[in-house]
Amino acid sequence: MILEKEKVFQTIYDSMDAIFVADTAADKYEIIRDSGKFTEIFGMEGSYKDMMIKFMKGTLDKRVSEGGVYSVFFDKASGFVGRISKKAKMHYKGEDFYFQFNNLPVDETRNIILITYIDEDAYFTESRGDVKTQAMKSAYLFSMFVDLVEDTCSNMDMSEIDNDPVNSLRITFSQWREQIVNMIDEHQRDEFMRFTDIEYLKNNVESKKAKSREFFMMNLEGNFKWVNLIFSRIDTGYENDHKMVFVVEDNSEAHDRITKGLENELEKYQKLSKHDSLTGLLNHGNIEKVLADCLSAKPLSLIMLDIDHFKKVNDTFGHAAGDAVLKKFASIAKENLKACNCDLGRWGGEEFLGICKETSGDKMAEIAEKLRKIIEDTEFETVGHITSSFGVIEVSDGESAKEAFERLDAALYKAKEGGRNRVVRG
Ligand code: GH3
Ligand code: MG
Ligand code: MG
Repeated sequence: MILEKEKVFQTIYDSMDAIFVADTAADKYEIIRDSGKFTEIFGMEGSYKDMMIKFMKGTLDKRVSEGGVYSVFFDKASGFVGRISKKAKMHYKGEDFYFQFNNLPVDETRNIILITYIDEDAYFTESRGDVKTQAMKSAYLFSMFVDLVEDTCSNMDMSEIDNDPVNSLRITFSQWREQIVNMIDEHQRDEFMRFTDIEYLKNNVESKKAKSREFFMMNLEGNFKWVNLIFSRIDTGYENDHKMVFVVEDNSEAHDRITKGLENELEKYQKLSKHDSLTGLLNHGNIEKVLADCLSAKPLSLIMLDIDHFKKVNDTFGHAAGDAVLKKFASIAKENLKACNCDLGRWGGEEFLGICKETSGDKMAEIAEKLRKIIEDTEFETVGHITSSFGVIEVSDGESAKEAFERLDAALYKAKEGGRNRVVRG
């Protein structure tokens, strides 16, 4: 045997820079060995939760309470009962120092925390890759503490954090935002600067409350993704304190969901906007578009339908009765024009335009005549019988939409002039 077990244990014990023992259920810890600053920083014993908060915060402020946003991170802190090994950094009395933090569970509630100092290089060289994996696993891509009064920011090295030295304790919060703004989509940079403005945050984030905003931001891999930037104000019990936990939350999934939802809504509205709300037929703009699109189709016939003396209907029976007539008229027309592959739209008031592809002028006139008769024979509620006039044309080769319309209009005019309730082929 090269070494006795006891000698091994003793050597390990002696080589540790600090050893904490903790009971998470009793919320207690004791320092049983310390070669350096930990006793000074933490005290020989105390609350386990307080200790973890101090570790997480990386700075030492006794006034930090357990309430408020800390509780969000606290689950993670109490989660440290498991086996964990992590490089960490502390800022104390103007100095940074680096250490390896090892948590060894003894049983369900008790654990041993072994700490050894490491040098700065070891901390930075190894932390990067480790952070990327962590960040990807975590919904919180990045988090840090911000003190708006002191204009400082500090990493929360004990949870999922970006250990990038650029974002370390060395820079002020103001400097940090000047750097980070370059990672924000250029169209949102002004908004980012407004949102992260110290005075804005001081005036707009109440204690224990949070403010969040969505940004399109570049991640460590250089890809843009949607994130939520959240500033949660810590309840320190001091009104003039403005201490925040800042979190970058991955929002790409939620964003995709919302965008999909919006697209569906948009589609619904686009559909609605294509149709006339009273009759459900295509509206003026759309039927006009349909005509422009199929003007070269051959054969192509147009039909204009106009209710006779409709003004009188309104005058006699009221506008609501008039509306009901329009609705029923539209539905009868649609039903009877189906056979000739007809797109029917409400051209205006009591005028309707039908565009019938693969329909000759003769066929169109025939269908129009049938429809005229059906309308004449239909009993409309309240109003009784009405009649309607029709202009019909077949679009000729090379004819423009405007020319076709003039002919169609003229035909309808002739039908009206000729005594109404008739079809005139133009
Ligand atoms: P003509 O036989 O010459 O076509 O006579 P008309 O009364 O049908 O034609 P005119 O163009 O003089 O009047 C059309 C009327 O249609 C006037 C307007 O009040 C009515 N109108 C237009 N849009 C609507 C509507 O959405 N609902 C109702 N109830 N009436 C409408
Ligand atoms: Mg009319
Ligand atoms: Mg009219």
